[in-house]
Amino acid sequence: MSERGGYIGRFAPSPTGPLHAGSLVAALASWLDARAHGGQWLVRIEDVDTPRCVPGADRVILEQLAACGLHPDGPVVYQSQRGHLYQAALDALIAQRIAYPCACTRQDIALALVASGHIRQRHGELVYPGTCRHGLKGRHARAWRFMTDSGVEVRWTDRRLGDQAQNVVRDVGDFILKRADGLWAYQLAVVVDDAAQGITHIVRGEDLADNTARQLMLQQALGYEPPQYLHTP
Ligand code: GLU
Repeated sequence: MSERGGYIGRFAPSPTGPLHAGSLVAALASWLDARAHGGQWLVRIEDVDTPRCVPGADRVILEQLAACGLHPDGPVVYQSQRGHLYQAALDALIAQRIAYPCACTRQDIALALVASGHIRQRHGELVYPGTCRHGLKGRHARAWRFMTDSGVEVRWTDRRLGDQAQNVVRDVGDFILKRADGLWAYQLAVVVDDAAQGITHIVRGEDLADNTARQLMLQQALGYEPPQYLHTP
């Protein structure tokens, strides 16, 4: 964990291709913010979603950063080598009964939503109706989900966007921690790594702002100190 008052920031690209203008803005903004605070700046390669990763893209990204003079203040870490940390976090959530196995296929979820009379969607994803919250009823576990807490609206203050709020239960639903294909979900991996690396300040693109409430919920469940967030245009 970070020393008291110390700033540790990070840039956490997914190696799905070379950095583009938008991701370079996030890289530069996170680096500048770290420098402005006299802090450290780390780089983490988020290669958990292996089907989306492009071989060699990590090297290209690191070269692009170096070419811009953005040098990390510590070793670059790869999420693909940190599965044991994600498993330990999942185990902790299971022990608290806030992670549960889910047997539902996409079709099961769609059918349950139709049967309930209202289909909820978010960014093209169906909002999970909570079917497996009360057990698998003899079906096979495919994935693990986080049990969102009913009635709780997550509130936080973004350093650029100001006061934010999201009703995760209603708008997102019980989200995936470990996927049916065995891969770790971004939400779990990012929260575990930010805590393990002692990240105090997250500066990233505004397209990721929507994930913040889920990440704050997970941090709270895992007993982690929440970082400060700044989402760049
Ligand atoms: N790996 C994510 C992406 O490239 C960013 C994660 C984050 O900054 O929280 O979209």
